[in-house]
Amino acid sequence: MTILRLVLGDQLNPEHTWFHEVNDGILYVMMEVRSETDYVCHHAQKVLAIFAAMRDFARHIGAKGHRIRYFHILDPDNRQSLTSNLALMLATASFQRLEWQAPDEWRIDRQLAVFTASCGVPAGMVSSHHFLTERHDAAAMFPGHDNWLMETFYRAMRRRYQILLDRNGKPEGGRWNYDHDNRKPWPRSPPLPPPWQKSHDHAQLWDDIQASGIVTLGYPCAADFPWPLNRQEALELLAHFVRYGLPHFGDYQDAMSTQSPYLYHSLLSFAMNTKMLQPLEVIKAAEDAWRTGLVSLAAVEGFIRQILGWREYVRGFYWAHMPDYLHTNYFEHQRPLPEWFWNGHTHMRCLSQVIHQSLDLAYAHHIQRLMVTGNFALLAGLDPLQLHEWYLGIYIDAFEWVEMPNTLGMSQYADGGRLASKPYVASASYMHRMSDYCKGCHYDRKARYGATACPLNALYWNFHLEHQEKLSGHPRLFHVYRYLDKIDDQEKQQIRQQSAGMLANLADL
Ligand code: FAD
Repeated sequence: MTILRLVLGDQLNPEHTWFHEVNDGILYVMMEVRSETDYVCHHAQKVLAIFAAMRDFARHIGAKGHRIRYFHILDPDNRQSLTSNLALMLATASFQRLEWQAPDEWRIDRQLAVFTASCGVPAGMVSSHHFLTERHDAAAMFPGHDNWLMETFYRAMRRRYQILLDRNGKPEGGRWNYDHDNRKPWPRSPPLPPPWQKSHDHAQLWDDIQASGIVTLGYPCAADFPWPLNRQEALELLAHFVRYGLPHFGDYQDAMSTQSPYLYHSLLSFAMNTKMLQPLEVIKAAEDAWRTGLVSLAAVEGFIRQILGWREYVRGFYWAHMPDYLHTNYFEHQRPLPEWFWNGHTHMRCLSQVIHQSLDLAYAHHIQRLMVTGNFALLAGLDPLQLHEWYLGIYIDAFEWVEMPNTLGMSQYADGGRLASKPYVASASYMHRMSDYCKGCHYDRKARYGATACPLNALYWNFHLEHQEKLSGHPRLFHVYRYLDKIDDQEKQQIRQQSAGMLANLADL
């Protein structure tokens, strides 16, 4: 019996049950293919990191005795798509069965389902054993409801996995959620964690990528890489985060600073999304740190909620709403992204800072994505589909199942509020409160009108005026519309005029 088993580039878990025993009757196949690099334009470091991690993984399981066929990007036999290469392999050797692990993305799930339905050999999908819920578990928790509640889901997950519960099954500390303790700006102390980096020589791989003609954005990085490329390195990064970042994660998870792109964030999303690390082991490591007195309950609860709550929740949301979700556009926003999304050349210091950082590092933390680039896009009425492609390309951890609900739902409210409880928009006062970006900015954060007024100020009110019909009844926007009710028509006209001028010249902001 010869079985062909496909391992995707985001399925790099050497502890998957597939690899528990060496069996000469099984051939693993991995592929670097243009169909995966070209569906959007990706950051150079993302392509580098995924290919490097795939090559490392293939070496690792090969060294354990597993048989593997690896298609390099320049391999002359490489037909540059998952299914064409599978067809090639099935045509040139006699396999009796084809197996694959459940893909995370709808796109690949469809491709493989269609291909395997007529590929000529019996075929079957197995679990990737990664997530803490099945694809449709979250939907099953909210039967018949369009608007799910993340908090309800999260509490059920805490109970299901017995995380941060006392002996009576109650939440440790008497509260499920410590979010209110966790919203501080960073006053330049406590000290930042030392950087975690590994030296890797990517020169040959980068040459291969360029020779293949793959078009990338951002900058390939030097030898010191802040991303783990195998499970061993991922475990080191996890230990590093628990020791240095986690103690302050809760307090400063919403803070932004020009002094550090990372602050106390974990940088674990790439390792988890490629399955080098399992979410439950990350959660347990954090819980253990609290049980041994190393970190506060608020910090640990805040961190665990992101993984046990949000990460699983958005995945369930994705599977419940695909494929139609891609085309949601509640506000009918159509404006193209200004050119400076690709080079950072804008006078708005907050956007310049976050876009430059993203181009340099393929990373921005959650609040930078939500409240800087996402905020501007929503206020300026940028096309959510174009924005989705930008986020999907630029971030090291961007895979559609997690990026799309975050971008279209949480950040752009493009689904009309199915994921987010309100549109996340803010004016300059928020930016000033949570970051040091406004200091030295070309624009005046206190002004609403005039050539040097911070664009966020007029755009913030203009957004609410423009979408009054859709939003004025929203209970969480009561104060916003009460304010707008109080200002006179002349001022409303001024807001509209100031905004129209900026929206007509986004490239110059
Ligand atoms: P930390 O802040 O240290 O958080 C720990 C972990 O919690 C993360 O590694 C991640 O696995 C999980 N997590 C935190 N917030 C979320 C969330 N909202 N949804 C799902 N998981 C979460 N995350 C991705 O993994 N891939 C994406 O492509 C992605 N795109 C995003 C796009 C937008 C517009 C927004 C607003 C958020 C996006 N996120 C995405 C969620 C979040 O920003 C990243 O998970 C986080 O910034 C990764 O950095 P970190 O590992 O240092 O996270």
